[in-house]
Amino acid sequence: MSQTKAVNTEKWQGLDGAHHLHPFTNPKELKQQAARIIESANGVYLTDSDGNDYLDMMAGLWCVNMGYGQKDIIAAASAQIEQLPYYNAFFKTSHPPAAELSGLLAEVTPAHMNHTFFTSSGSEANDTVIRMAWRYWDVLGKPEKRVIISRKNAYHGSTIAASSLGGMEDMHKQGGIIPDIVHVEQPHWFAKRCELGHDLDANEFGREVAQSIADKIEELGVDKVAAFIAEPIQGAGGVIVPPETYWPEVKKICDHYGILLVADEVICGFGRTGHWFGTDLYDLKPDLMPIAKGLSSGYLPIGGVMVADRVADVLINQGGEFNHGFTYSGHPVCAAAAVANIKLMQKENIVQKVHDETAPYLQKRLRELGEHALVGQVRGVGMLGALELVKDKENFIKFDKDDNVGTICRTHSFDNHLIMRAVGDAMIISPPLVLEKSEIDLFIERAWKSLDLTQKDIK
Ligand SMILES: *Cc1c(COP(=O)(O)O)cnc(C)c1O
Repeated sequence: MSQTKAVNTEKWQGLDGAHHLHPFTNPKELKQQAARIIESANGVYLTDSDGNDYLDMMAGLWCVNMGYGQKDIIAAASAQIEQLPYYNAFFKTSHPPAAELSGLLAEVTPAHMNHTFFTSSGSEANDTVIRMAWRYWDVLGKPEKRVIISRKNAYHGSTIAASSLGGMEDMHKQGGIIPDIVHVEQPHWFAKRCELGHDLDANEFGREVAQSIADKIEELGVDKVAAFIAEPIQGAGGVIVPPETYWPEVKKICDHYGILLVADEVICGFGRTGHWFGTDLYDLKPDLMPIAKGLSSGYLPIGGVMVADRVADVLINQGGEFNHGFTYSGHPVCAAAAVANIKLMQKENIVQKVHDETAPYLQKRLRELGEHALVGQVRGVGMLGALELVKDKENFIKFDKDDNVGTICRTHSFDNHLIMRAVGDAMIISPPLVLEKSEIDLFIERAWKSLDLTQKDIK
């Protein structure tokens, strides 16, 4: 480490520690340790202010799908900020980037979705989902259909409405939840298996958990229920891939009761699962589809809600004015970055490449880590993965919370120049889609080493 680098690191850490309140962080703990300062990035690697490189197996925060340093996206955003840095889409105006992006989205999303409502984030997209679902039923003369059924441990964002929609207890404890949102069980087979302490048939479990949605609808009365919302694969909850029986059953239930199905594609969208959208993988044909993160590969903040034709028809032809929108809905520079990102994905045929080559290789090698004594389960689809660390893999016994095994492993990963995230005791990955096979090999090597060091620490 050079002298100037060390001095700079201290400067940034000092300012940051003195003035920056970080998201989802214990500020007192951070003050004692100082933040790692990330200064630059290229491809799938980050560089910190001391000059250390890290293989970023989280693509930032699940978002930098096309990797860092993509010239096409940078050039498009730069050109747009000169041409028209801002204008709104209120008052019957629009601009080329928003128009072009809505057209491109109609092309890459499922065939029955042809309209986008733009937001600046996934949280705002989910706030929009709630307002839109309520609006839809109101226009149809059923304003009492208000309840949205979600799932425990779901993540839908951090505004009051989005965190209510989510199923994170620690978030609900700080401020409660808004009315008309209820939570049912998540399809987390491994957690349930550990909890039960005896065998549990995954497919039967999948059907049972799906059935709990129908039970909830019956309990509340279908005339009170507006929608069911879920991520195709739960991300922030710990990369939870549902049993095969789950989604077909859920789809049947939503169809049977005629409630709206909302697929939160903020993580699963834009190639993450080896398909353009998670709903393509499970053939869900949702009514509303919040998107964000991979939409611009995280280069600029932009999100939106994709609206199915049957909902759009009601809102457009019967609804009148929808009193909702944001100053930055469809922001021209963010939209230009998203357009360039999607065109780049198309040009590189990245979704097909992930589907045919990268994801199968990543999933195969990821499962090799399942041989490690600490790893009780390997989960994953496409470019999503999780390693569940356990105390006793033969008997499905988890660590105690105080063992902090996830945090220990995350620290070793960082020290081994690898970024994995810990969700409880699950080490999770969501790397850039542009990851090469040689980088997957490097990941496996560093992950194995991190697991070894973690095991040593807890013995
Ligand atoms: C990240 C995330 C959100 C929230 O998006 P923000 O841009 O952070 O507001 C919503 N839903 C899911 C599934 C997410 O992963």
